Amino acid sequence: MIVDLHNHTPLCNHATGDIEEFVKNAIKKKIDIFGFSDHAPMNFDEKYRMNFSQMGKYEKDVLHVKKKYIDKIEILLGYEVDYLDGYLDERVLNANVDYLIGSIHFLNRWGFDNPEFIGEYQNRDIDKIWEEYFRALKEMAKSQFFEIVGHIDLIKVFRFLPKKDIRLIAKNSIKEIKKSNMVVELNSAGLRKPVKEIYPSPQIMELLVEFDIPITFSSDAHKIDDIGYKRDEVMKYAKSFGYKKCAVFRKKERVMVNF
Ligand SMILES: [Zn+2]
Ligand SMILES: [Zn+2]
Repeated sequence: MIVDLHNHTPLCNHATGDIEEFVKNAIKKKIDIFGFSDHAPMNFDEKYRMNFSQMGKYEKDVLHVKKKYIDKIEILLGYEVDYLDGYLDERVLNANVDYLIGSIHFLNRWGFDNPEFIGEYQNRDIDKIWEEYFRALKEMAKSQFFEIVGHIDLIKVFRFLPKKDIRLIAKNSIKEIKKSNMVVELNSAGLRKPVKEIYPSPQIMELLVEFDIPITFSSDAHKIDDIGYKRDEVMKYAKSFGYKKCAVFRKKERVMVNF
């Protein structure tokens, strides 16, 4: 089975291609299970996401293509939710979807993965930023709101890497992810970013194996060409760590499928 659970739509204002084009392309690329997980609305950083009044349209449009293409592909409905203290919203957390991806794009409101704010790295201690990121990740896991951890080591995006062993920095968060029964996506977007590396790095993959945490697959597509991006490489990477199955979610119910 070819699975790809993290894909965006133009509703977030920084993706192109309409929903139907995405689906047709996913079919062309022989994807079996394809999930939309556009950026959920939030009263912060509104420019890069749909607003609350668009949730209905988003969900309706995805369910429409789900039905229309049911003989060719399985479409799933989700959201990518920013875990940002004080901005979580019940309308998103209780949405009637297949899954929620929890992601950290902000450290204390600093959009650390946005090239616009890259200058801030010069003012910071990189080891401390990494620790802060993984503390936030631990809190996110503890909240138990999410099924999937989005790009688990996004903090490496610009290749500002810590001196300290990444395994030591990440371990407590990984333990919490295990406790909350989440799965971790292998996200190929990192290969398109300055870091040129899959999320998660090999060090974090080792921890996932150690704690027996399931994985799933994502291309994090923001345009048609991103769909299925480097997926053979990513599946090979997963297999090299001993993984044979990946997770999908239907109405928050986890099912493991072979890949
Ligand atoms: Zn995005
Ligand atoms: Zn993201």
